[in-house]
Amino acid sequence: MAYDPSNIFARILRGELPCNKVYEDDYALAFHDIAPQAPVHVLVIPKGDYVSQDDFAASAPDALVAGFFRAVGNVARELGLVESGYRCLANTGTDAHQEVPHFHVHIFAGRDLGRMIKRFDD
Ligand code: AMP
Repeated sequence: MAYDPSNIFARILRGELPCNKVYEDDYALAFHDIAPQAPVHVLVIPKGDYVSQDDFAASAPDALVAGFFRAVGNVARELGLVESGYRCLANTGTDAHQEVPHFHVHIFAGRDLGRMIKRFDD
């Protein structure tokens, strides 16, 4: 899947759309999710054109992979989430219902998040 530079997170990165920013460095930008699903729900996105976790892991330069995941940790630490705990989630593709085709990690925190994901009886 080719990267679509008109996706909403690309527009936020270019400053064309606003966001409620919580963190920024050379590798990543983090902002509050517009429709939070936990008391804390932050999105961390890399500064680069990567469609998904798969694309990022396969194609991003080592410095960006390292810088991005350090940024995710920095966000959680700076928001004071480490002691009580938090969950990271990266939806990839159709079954995971990825909506925005720019790689992003969700950080959820602020309450007991339950164990893992919802179970389905097939
Ligand atoms: P995903 O399903 O993993 O692609 O998640 C996309 C997330 O982006 C959802 O949780 C949306 O609520 C969130 N979102 C969409 N547009 C915006 C926006 N303009 N600012 C902040 N979060 C957004």
